Amino acid sequence: MLLLEHQARTILRDTDVVVPFGVVVDEQTDVPVLPCVLKVQVPVGGRGKAGGIRVVNEEKEYRDALEELTELDIKGHKPSAIYAEELVDIGRELYLSIVINREESTIELVAHPEGGVEIEAHKPEEFMRAELTPKSLEAVGQAAADWLEIPEQAFVLTDMVERLYGVFVKSDATLLEINPLALTREGKLVVADCKLELDDMARYRHEEWPDEQTPADVNYVPLDSDGTIGTIANGAGLAMATVDAVRAHGYTPANFLDIGGAATTESVAASLQKISSLPNIEAIVINIFGGIVRCDIVAQAIIEASRQVDNPPRLVVRLSGTNAEEARKLLSEHDMPLHDSLAEALEAL
Ligand code: GDP
Ligand code: MN
Repeated sequence: MLLLEHQARTILRDTDVVVPFGVVVDEQTDVPVLPCVLKVQVPVGGRGKAGGIRVVNEEKEYRDALEELTELDIKGHKPSAIYAEELVDIGRELYLSIVINREESTIELVAHPEGGVEIEAHKPEEFMRAELTPKSLEAVGQAAADWLEIPEQAFVLTDMVERLYGVFVKSDATLLEINPLALTREGKLVVADCKLELDDMARYRHEEWPDEQTPADVNYVPLDSDGTIGTIANGAGLAMATVDAVRAHGYTPANFLDIGGAATTESVAASLQKISSLPNIEAIVINIFGGIVRCDIVAQAIIEASRQVDNPPRLVVRLSGTNAEEARKLLSEHDMPLHDSLAEALEAL
């Protein structure tokens, strides 16, 4: 799950890393202290280039920019909020991130002396990469200060890296990216933007996480508005085959839905909610192949999600693959039979 910038900042603010002050604003809220930076909150990067970041100096300019930003579409995303932030007097823009190196099974610090909106233009070898462990923190902090060409900030940076590493581990993050890490004209290091991606598999131990709104990798297409049968499948091919099979059995499919790589409670709940709100739905066929995802985890997600949705229609579930037997047991405890094949499931409609 990718947090919106302002959600990520709330988490960082608890760490004493210097994060500019900011508030979520709309037409109703008070005008923030000006000048400020207005930033659209969308679950994708590249807002600066797409016109989603605006520095405003006075009230008229603020109101106009607020209206324009609300209308903006960034790579297919309408802003979920507009965030107003204290203007940072940026002298230099640096790049700093903490990532998981999946090949080495390590946590790494990545740094580049020229951060900002053109970061993709740099060559891979220009980035410093170093493994972060509690023991390596100090040495890596020192080395990063040199790499970023701020040797005079070595202590401050080391302290920051230590705190960010702590947040990364504690939050079960998969990515924490600060771009830009601003060096102000006064010589202070400030987190001028941050991106925090959390590991969905760890959601069960983080009650504090915000609900996921529309999971990014759910691909939903409404079909016939007279359709009575909703469909949920994993993978575009299986989702299309499911729609076809429903029609071949003499029913009208109401939608196409590919739930993406991981069928989590959030993505299943969001999908059920969406389909349940269609006018003529009588049942939903869930057709999931457990290759990488485990059927028992999917079954658990289906059970949880159906509790979260008001009056869900009848669910007809076909799961096959890894841990299908465990899934069968779980579902049968909730009066949902597990069907081994799609044909069998459709017979049960
Ligand atoms: P992104 O494009 O989605 O990564 O959004 P950012 O929050 O990183 O902002 C993009 C760019 O806007 C930054 O690289 C800065 O150049 C500029 N910017 C953002 N906030 C400030 C600020 O407080 N002061 C100044 N001077 N520039 C800012
Ligand atoms: Mn940025």
